[in-house]
Amino acid sequence: MNDIRSHYLAWLRDAHAMEEQALTMMRGMVSRLEHYPELSARIEQHIAETEDQAGALRDLLDSRDTSTSMLKDAMGKMAATGQALSGLFAADEVVKGGMASYTFEHMEIIAYKVLIATARQLGDTAALSVFERNLAEEQAMADWLLAHMEETTRAFLTRDAADLPAGR
Ligand code: MG
Ligand code: FE
Repeated sequence: MNDIRSHYLAWLRDAHAMEEQALTMMRGMVSRLEHYPELSARIEQHIAETEDQAGALRDLLDSRDTSTSMLKDAMGKMAATGQALSGLFAADEVVKGGMASYTFEHMEIIAYKVLIATARQLGDTAALSVFERNLAEEQAMADWLLAHMEETTRAFLTRDAADLPAGR
């Protein structure tokens, strides 16, 4: 039981770091998407959801884990991943950002699947409902990005061909 619990806490800390990194990425992106109001509104919505997700994970950690230094370690690791995904931004930021966001949502989806499986194993039903709610929000965001990627790409190409400030 001890081993399961220590994996669980480590994965929970990783998930919290992942959500904090998601916030950093999305806040940066949304500040540069003024020509894409629909996309930027959806990202704003997900920023609000993600703030709640991160808060809920922090509450779970506070009541289940006492080692705060481990939290910092996980944050450092995830920051590197986020930078790798978001460091590509250039003229076609809206397209690259859409791709990076879709990738990131799937990393979140699979992380919650792992936490759900482990919480079930441990009978942590309170945490289970947090993970399931977060998972549903990640899935909805990924679905939205996929459904709108064609439209986003077309809007970018149109602006770019017209020599408008297309990049963003
Ligand atoms: Mg999230
Ligand atoms: Fe997300």
